[in-house]
Amino acid sequence: MTEENTSTHPLLNIDDLTTSFFIDSSIFRAVDSVNLTLHRGEIFGLVGESGSGKTMTALSILRLVPPPGRIERGKVIFEGRDLVRIPAKEMQKIRGNKISMIFQEPMTSLNPVFKIGDQIAEILETHTEFSKKEIKERTIELLMRVGFNEAEKRYIQYPHQLSGGQRQRILIAMAIACNPSLVIADEPTTALDVATQSLILSLLQNLMVEHRTAMLFITHNLNVIKQLARRIGIMYAGRIMELNSVNDFFTDPLHPYSKGLVESIIGLERNERRLKAIPGSVPRLSELPRGCKFHPRCAFVMEICKTREPPVTQITNEKWVRCYLYRN
Ligand code: SF4
Repeated sequence: MTEENTSTHPLLNIDDLTTSFFIDSSIFRAVDSVNLTLHRGEIFGLVGESGSGKTMTALSILRLVPPPGRIERGKVIFEGRDLVRIPAKEMQKIRGNKISMIFQEPMTSLNPVFKIGDQIAEILETHTEFSKKEIKERTIELLMRVGFNEAEKRYIQYPHQLSGGQRQRILIAMAIACNPSLVIADEPTTALDVATQSLILSLLQNLMVEHRTAMLFITHNLNVIKQLARRIGIMYAGRIMELNSVNDFFTDPLHPYSKGLVESIIGLERNERRLKAIPGSVPRLSELPRGCKFHPRCAFVMEICKTREPPVTQITNEKWVRCYLYRN
């Protein structure tokens, strides 16, 4: 795989990452041979339907895969070190500090019995040498950076006293507290209404640009990626099927699955009554077909697709696809 050649020193270089669940005598591959790079300050969109492996990829990067799952093979090189192989204590120092994560549902990520200011301050206490006074000042500053005017007042409030959008802003403040190099955002706006969603996306985008923080933005919503990211990876059944620039993806998607996704949102934009939906659904991990995992749903399926998994075909330096239609 050579997609990573766009920079000699990417911030994150994921190589052949494979995460499996071992249940009884069966192996279920939730993430299979994932290759991906992220450059400093870049916002990358990882898109897929529910169950496609996006979240498990994020949890693998952070080494938070729940048992009976584990990383089976591959590398996650972050700032020159392989996160898969560093000692657990080192990994703990990186989590929440150099790499932080924003989850979909803020209420489950915030502790309902602690003041929000104290919850932000706790991250700074864990990862910095700041004095108590400095931590308080920095927490107030973080609250202001995520758009709270009355930061002192917010500091002493509890999560239930805030709206969904405000709670998500608290999670963003927590995620950027230690000036991370990478933020992983997993469907951070899905639970919000459209107007709040747009505000949160602009806030995230501005914060990332200001501090040159890279962001892996995970979503099932292509419109969000159109607004936010420069490059996109399309996940299906644990694999990245296509990697492309956002511009090229929307004008000329490569993979048959990508074509279906783009056609469906173009239909939505035109307000067409009958959307061209992709027939079928994402297969369960326990029922993955042989060969190309998309073949039961593909309009272009050939005999070889049913028995042999397609290799990656590199189209340009920043663009590749897993499909026999592009075989050299
Ligand atoms: Fe369709 Fe075959 Fe390409 Fe899979 S490899 S997407 S089945 S044409």
